[in-house]
Amino acid sequence: MAEHAPDNSRRRFIKLTAIGLAAAPFANALLSGAASAADAVSESDPQATALGYVADATKAAKRTDAAAMCSNCNFYSGKAGEASGPCALFQGKLVTAKGWCTAWAKKPA
Ligand code: SF4
Repeated sequence: MAEHAPDNSRRRFIKLTAIGLAAAPFANALLSGAASAADAVSESDPQATALGYVADATKAAKRTDAAAMCSNCNFYSGKAGEASGPCALFQGKLVTAKGWCTAWAKKPA
């Protein structure tokens, strides 16, 4: 039994190395995905279309509150004064501070 121990550890090493090599491209893909997390939401994105998102709120035909825009929306978490920021509804992408969509909800004061 004990004489199989070196064989087992060598097999294990080879197995772990193979798994590591196989996983490397996926790890790289995950990292590049994180790097592109700051991509702006495109108005033609299916989710943006479904929510009527526009990068310029003044061009939103359905907007009834003239003051409503992403920067004062409860789902927006961008920093004040920045041109764009994250929105809870568009995970991993940025919406413009002056944008708007039908899910707009007034940020509590
Ligand atoms: S939910 Fe709010 S922050 Fe997000 S796109 Fe719509 S209006 Fe802008």
